[in-house]
Amino acid sequence: MARTLKAIIDSAALKHNFAKVREFCPHQKIIAMIKANGYGHGMINVAKTLSDADGFGVACLEEAVQCRAAGISQRIFVMGGFYEAKTELPEILRLNLDLILHQEEQVINLIRFLNTVQNKNTLLPLKVWIKLNTGMNRLGFKPQHFAPVLHCLSQHPLLQIEGFMTHFANADKDNDPLTPQQIEIFFKTVQGLPGVKSLANSAGIMAWSTAHGDWVRPGIMLYGISPLQNRHGAMEGLKPIMSLTSTLIAIQEAKKGEIVGYGGRYVCPTDRRIGVVAAGYGDGYPRVAPDGTPVLLNGRRVPLVGQVSMDMIMIDLSSQPAAKVGDPVLLWGPGLPVEEVAAVVGTSAYELLTRLTTRVPLIW
Ligand SMILES: *Cc1c(COP(=O)(O)O)cnc(C)c1O
Repeated sequence: MARTLKAIIDSAALKHNFAKVREFCPHQKIIAMIKANGYGHGMINVAKTLSDADGFGVACLEEAVQCRAAGISQRIFVMGGFYEAKTELPEILRLNLDLILHQEEQVINLIRFLNTVQNKNTLLPLKVWIKLNTGMNRLGFKPQHFAPVLHCLSQHPLLQIEGFMTHFANADKDNDPLTPQQIEIFFKTVQGLPGVKSLANSAGIMAWSTAHGDWVRPGIMLYGISPLQNRHGAMEGLKPIMSLTSTLIAIQEAKKGEIVGYGGRYVCPTDRRIGVVAAGYGDGYPRVAPDGTPVLLNGRRVPLVGQVSMDMIMIDLSSQPAAKVGDPVLLWGPGLPVEEVAAVVGTSAYELLTRLTTRVPLIW
């Protein structure tokens, strides 16, 4: 029999969450963000399920190549642009990708590259977007550096400037003062320019309606997770799409004062029945999970006890004396929001999902 740990993905819930984006943004086009293997859910299956999306967002060319190889024909947006002109730009043209430009070297190297290609190349013009740094200080041109970049790119006969983007740092925070500033700076900088405007990630879509622009870029909300602080997806009408499920694979009777797991972090305060679950940090379950991290055993909450191992965790069966080997365990999913597990563990749902390892089968 195969190991019982699996991530079961609910494609109907994914479609439901996409429909939720449409409800928030009935007039916008939607770039479904599928980078990092579709936030750990399987990039190609996510894209195929969301065939109504107007485009897909990936981090890098390698991800776009995989999408095109799998027959994804919608527009694909390469958020990080390119790293090496000579090798990547011919591929970007051949695969008809939308290229996001965010720093000066990219612009210089792109222009240099275009000067070497044939005007008759039928794959041209190349579709580019200019990314603005409106306050996050990650990717993008500062507004004061924008005019020369725009000038240089818009002059070029082999380029088509599709639009302008920016990204929010704090859109998940209620009453955050930076987000309205970012919105204002962005619209002021691109005012009157032809080309479409794209600002909003999931938090922007849900919490900042003035930031919807022309194209929105939902990621985490598609996967059923609330981007907003101290909330979870079900509170927003989103459905979790991943159930990370396993089973009890062994039971131990531990006496009062005995330890459980590596290092003896957990000491039994009384005699305890301890359940062993097939799921560990080798699967991407967080090693830093403390005693008390919730899991669902037979649909009811029980606490993790002892240090997470590579292939296993242990749980306290005190509240379920009838528990037996083979009983189902949910690590996160419907009934146990990954947002809640992330909060207990001290990380984000984004990280828990994207760091599941290839050992975990994704069952659609
Ligand atoms: C990942 C990403 C998004 C999606 O963000 P979520 O918070 O997951 O909705 C949007 N825009 C860009 C540029 C991104 O890299």
